[in-house]
Formats: sequence, structure tokens, C-alpha cells
Amino acid sequence: TDELGIALSNLADSATGILTPTLRLGVTGLSRAGKTIFITALVHNLLTQGRLPGFAPLADGRFIGAKLAEYPDATIPRFAYEQHLAALTANPPVWPESTRRISQLRIVLKFQSAKWWAGLTGPATLNLDIVDYPGEWLLDLPLLGLSFAEWSAEALARARQPGHAKEAAEFLKALDSMDVSKDASDSEAERMASTFTTYLRRSREHGALSTLPPGRFLLPGDLEGSPALTFAPLPRPGVPVRHGMLYAMLEGRFEAYKTQVVRPFFRDHFARLDRQVVLVDTLRALNAGSEAVNDLETALTAVLACFRQGEANPLLRPFVRNIDRILFAATKADHVHHTSHDRLGAILNRLVASASKRARFAGTTTRSIAMAGIRATSEGTIRENGETLPTLIGTPLKGEVLDGTSYDGKTEIALFPGDLPERPDSLFEDGQPVSLNFLRFTPPQKLDRNAAGDVVLPHIRLDRALDYLIGDWMA
Ligand code: GDP
Repeated sequence: TDELGIALSNLADSATGILTPTLRLGVTGLSRAGKTIFITALVHNLLTQGRLPGFAPLADGRFIGAKLAEYPDATIPRFAYEQHLAALTANPPVWPESTRRISQLRIVLKFQSAKWWAGLTGPATLNLDIVDYPGEWLLDLPLLGLSFAEWSAEALARARQPGHAKEAAEFLKALDSMDVSKDASDSEAERMASTFTTYLRRSREHGALSTLPPGRFLLPGDLEGSPALTFAPLPRPGVPVRHGMLYAMLEGRFEAYKTQVVRPFFRDHFARLDRQVVLVDTLRALNAGSEAVNDLETALTAVLACFRQGEANPLLRPFVRNIDRILFAATKADHVHHTSHDRLGAILNRLVASASKRARFAGTTTRSIAMAGIRATSEGTIRENGETLPTLIGTPLKGEVLDGTSYDGKTEIALFPGDLPERPDSLFEDGQPVSLNFLRFTPPQKLDRNAAGDVVLPHIRLDRALDYLIGDWMA
């Protein structure tokens, strides 16, 4: 039925596509990777024809204009572009609310094609459908291949590892006091689910990304509190499982989570994407040390598994996918000097290269870059001990602390951020953490306006990202 549904919807898509081609661009990344900022910046720069010298249609003078349009599927929340832009351009500017669930936005692009016959047909139109979704949801794919007993065994073994003792203590205690073979009660199911969620959340706060599934436990979207999310891993009871046992109840909910939450997401949204950008907060991991880098690599491996061809991943076989380009973007590049931008891109490339060693991207090309959707810093130099050092100039967020100084969110400072290693391999070989002076900044305090009076949002290499992701559809 999956295959039939997809075949039919593809048919419907191509029927309307005869009039206007539609490019479905997925934007994902783990929580706080920068999805909201990336999309807001991308849309704003397209709508206002921002500074995008590396985006061929604009650089060639073939770009005519863009406007937002009604999204064809009224059941999916709309990406709150206007709200996010308002936050970024408020006085004082603030960072908007991050992605919590799936949302979509359609932007219609009008351009002159560079093809020889374009002169005969006049301007062309492209619908760019942007689909924003939490990367955590991709980590659920492996669940489709696991029974409740198998998943429980894995999840419990993980929770009992010594490294997780502190985070998992409450959950394991609740588990010990529970007789899984007795009759089920909702309150007990809720207690197990809530202590399990607390455990996942705490491991996340301590930097772990690889222990995440089920993805909806951390980012429930619209399912918060629903029975499909009220389960937890349980040891198999010593007696045969019978209807009405707590074990049977949670097993049923786990199965419901798979069929009613995970499968529909892959079938209805993921399977229909043409292009994908995966945003990665590489700098945060580098700054946190080698354990965090390893953990990020594990999480990226799990994310990447979802982009493998169906033959390589039997779980994906029912979902026909045709993603032909994936862009890996190290976000927030404005936290390092431009001399480190290529290095940051190379580090991410190295991270995903080893993560995707076994993931054969047949027919899919990938690229890694460093970028910033919104550039919150500018660059300068300071002289220290007769040496000239490159600096970043920006306003640290209220409460940020560096070298014993606590910032008030209003004071602009110059900071020597430190350099990234020249060769990414050295980072992985000697396992030395990169010591960066890392502060989070407020959004840019002063924004220029263009001739039409629109604010100009500064960025780093957003134009290159855009060119790779959609440029060829506007050739
Ligand atoms: P997501 O939607 O959860 O993926 O993440 P957001 O887009 O909301 O980004 C999370 C936070 O990271 C923001 O609130 C900003 O503080 C920061 N951030 C994201 N993108 C950038 C960027 O391009 N530059 C800077 N300086 N900070 C960024």
C-alpha cells in the first residue's frame, strides 16, 4: 500500500508539475543546528534579492523575482517565516524560536532560463517547497526493523552502561520497582514513559546525541502526551506475555508508534524530497571535545543511513526516494575567522566521509561547506604583544561567560576566536580538542537596507549553498 500510495501521489505531482515544476527541498539537522535561521535567511534573501553573488541565476541577471505562495497541503503547519524575521529584525533583535516539528513553506521563483529556447517560451517558474523537520526524527528509522523485545534489550543495555548511570538512575529505579507481568495501568505506563524521557533528555543535555531514539520523545511535535508516546523499554516478563499485562500494553504502543508515527513520516514527507540539506553544528562539538565529536559522528552515521539507497537499507525499500543531491553544511561559521571557513568545511567533510563509508550514495552527489545563515559578527584585528591577531566583533548574548567575564547582551566586543587546524586529519589522529574562544552572539544589531527599503541579512556562503541546492533547476 505504501508503494501504491506513493505512485499515485507522484502521479498527481507530475500532473500539476506539467504546469510548474516543483522542487522539494528538505532542511534537517539535530536540534539547534540552525534550521530555522537557515530557512529564514534563505527565504528572505530570495524574496529581497539579497547579496548572493555565488547564486548563478541572480549573478547572471536572470532572476526575476520570488513570492511566497499558499502551500498545497493544508494539513501541515506553515513555516513561521514572518514571525522569525520579525524576531531577527526587532529592536533589540532576538533569535527566533527553533524547529520543534515539521513545517513547510512554498516560495515561487520566477526567472529567465539560460537555455537556447528560453527566448521563445518567456520567463519560467519554479515552486520551491521547503520542508523543515527535526533530524531526531530520522534516528527513528532503525526502529522499523526492531520488535519491542529487541528494541527494549538494546535500550536497556544502553541505559545500564556505567557512563549513563547518573542520567538513567531514576528510570532504572522505576523499572526495578515495577512488575512488568502484572496488569497494566495508565499511570504506570506514564511513569515509565516520563522517567525514560527524562533520561533521554538528560543525556542530551550532557551532549550525547547518539542515544536519542525514539526521536519524538525529545521533539514530540503535535504528539505531546499522546498514548503513542507513552511507552518505555521493558525487560521481558518471566512468564508468557498475555493480553492486559503492562508489557503487552507498552508493546502495543511501541508498535503503534512505528506504524502511526514513524512510517507515515518517512512515507509522506521524507520519501518525497528531491534535495536535502543537513545542517550540523560542528563548532559546538569541536569546542566540547573529542567525545562530543565522536558522538556527533555516531549521530550523523544514523542520519546518513536514511539517505542510503533502498537496496542498501531494507527498511527504506518501501519508500521510493529520489534525493539526488545532499549538502552538508557546518553552520554558524561566523563564530570563526574567515581564514578558518574552509577548514571548518573540511572537518565536516571528514566527519561525514567516515560516517558514510558504507552508505553508498548511488546516484546521489554530496558536498560539504561551512556557512552562516545569519552573520552575527564582523571581522577586525587587534595587536597583542607586537602580533596582529584576526578578531571577531560581535555582541555576546546576555549571560555568556568567557575568562571570568560575564556579558550583558548589550556590549560589543572584539574576540580572538582561535584557529581551526589546517588539516582535518590532525584533529582525528591525535584526538586533541580544538580550543576555541567560543561565545554565542546576539543577532546583528545594525542591519543595512537595500534600495527598495528591505533589510539586508548578512550571511556567509548562503549563496553557494543555494546555488548547489537549486541553481541547476533554474539553469
Ligand atoms: P534549529 O531550528 O533547532 O535547527 O536551530 P535554530 O535555527 O533555531 O538555531 C539555534 C540557535 O543557533 C539560534 O538561536 C542561534 O543562537 C544560533 N544560530 C543559528 N544559526 C546561526 C548563524 O548563522 N549564526 C550565528 N551566530 N548563530 C546561529
